[in-house]
This record gives sequence, C-alpha cells and structure tokens, in this order.
Amino acid sequence: MKRLHKLFGWVGGLARRWTDPPFKTLIVNEQLPKVLKPRVLYVVKEDGFEEQAAILCPCGCKRVLQMNLLTDERPCWRVTYNRNGTASLHPSVWRKKDCASHFWFRDGRIVWVRD
Ligand SMILES: [Zn+2]
Repeated sequence: MKRLHKLFGWVGGLARRWTDPPFKTLIVNEQLPKVLKPRVLYVVKEDGFEEQAAILCPCGCKRVLQMNLLTDERPCWRVTYNRNGTASLHPSVWRKKDCASHFWFRDGRIVWVRD
C-alpha cells in the first residue's frame, strides 16, 4: 500500500507541474522593477519599441535573465504574444555561465533543453 501511495504522490506532483499557471506577461515602461516577481515575463518598452525581456532564472538561482529585443543588436530575441496573456520567446534562452540554464520559453512555460 505504501508503495502505491508513493506512486500516486509522484504522479500527482508531475500533474501539478503541468497544471501550474503559466508565466504572466508584464509590459513595463523604460525600466525593469528592482525586484522581479517569479513566473512573470517582463517586456521593457521605450518609445513604443520593445527593448528587452527579462525573467528570473527558472532554475531557482535567482539571477535575472535579460534578453535583448532590439533588432539591430545581437543576440536578439523575439517575443510573440498569445491571446490568453502568455507569450513565447524565440530563440531559446541559454545562460552559458553560472547555472548554464538552457530552455525554451513557450506560451508562458519553461521547456528545458537537456544537453
Ligand atoms: Zn539559473
């Protein structure tokens, strides 16, 4: 019986992870807030132009990941917005130092890339 419980617990945990609410998208003017909230994708706009996107690293290391959105700078990401308030980033986000997180941000969800 105990083992069965364990199994259900594990399946339940997995299901919860999938049913977690997606990241919200928050458009901010000119600059990022000093403290970012988890599970929020920030898009900084200046004069109507998307300047950068930022999220707290989903690995839990608490670092702020900033993605340039200006098309004349490299590297450059593109944000696409969904009607339900979520967004996607293209290409994938890859932090090549520290925690080395590599993931896709799709429809407000983190899709890890296992290298
Ligand atoms: Zn991290």
